[in-house]
Amino acid sequence: MSRPLNRRLLLVFAHPDDESVFAAGVVCRTVAGGGRVALCTATPGEHGKLGDPPVCSRENLGRARQAELMEACRILGISTIRLLGYPDRALAVAPADTIRRQLVEVIRAVRPQVVATFEPNGTNLHPDHVAISRFAGDAVSAAADARWYPELGKPHTIARLAWTLPVRPWAVLRRGDPAPEPGVDFAIDVEAFARRKAAALRAHRSQHITIDRIFFSKPDRGRLLSVELFRQAFGPRLGSVPETDLFAGIAGRLS
Ligand SMILES: [Zn+2]
Repeated sequence: MSRPLNRRLLLVFAHPDDESVFAAGVVCRTVAGGGRVALCTATPGEHGKLGDPPVCSRENLGRARQAELMEACRILGISTIRLLGYPDRALAVAPADTIRRQLVEVIRAVRPQVVATFEPNGTNLHPDHVAISRFAGDAVSAAADARWYPELGKPHTIARLAWTLPVRPWAVLRRGDPAPEPGVDFAIDVEAFARRKAAALRAHRSQHITIDRIFFSKPDRGRLLSVELFRQAFGPRLGSVPETDLFAGIAGRLS
């Protein structure tokens, strides 16, 4: 008899706000179901927008954005947060051995069934998004292999790697039914958590210009905040596409 799944989700993203833009609803769903969510954020985003009016000076933006991220994580119920501290807009030249080791350490400690990260082109071709996708895939493989970093604990094989879509998900949602769009393997109803997703997005005060442009200035913002879309990189075969649960096909396999 299979035991109920103790759901564990690890998000691996580049900047503070990526987690709220792409996955806040899935985080809330996982936590509401008794699961745990951990987040690795690779850079403090110190070269991002300052806000209008600016929330702080340029030199303080990295620190301010980390504080915004902590507030967003508190709102969403993310229990484990690792800030890797790499320079913004230069993640592609981060030392591969160092970041692999950091991510393997997190994967073996959290032991997630599902890891979610950017798809290989970063959804919007942002070089940091592209870089973290590659580093995450590399670390998922290394975490499963006892020959890598035996001092970092028992190997761990995840059940599913989920990617963001190859195109901006809000553009897909705006066109109507996401099901026939390329790469939509998961269309997850997060309407019950739309207000919490909105609050997490608003916690990223310095990024309000972008976040308003994507979500809050749009007449269909209710819908944009109510569905999250992912693609399967690898994992159990999908029963129907799009699936409605990021843990579909995993329940009972791991506990
Ligand atoms: Zn980003």
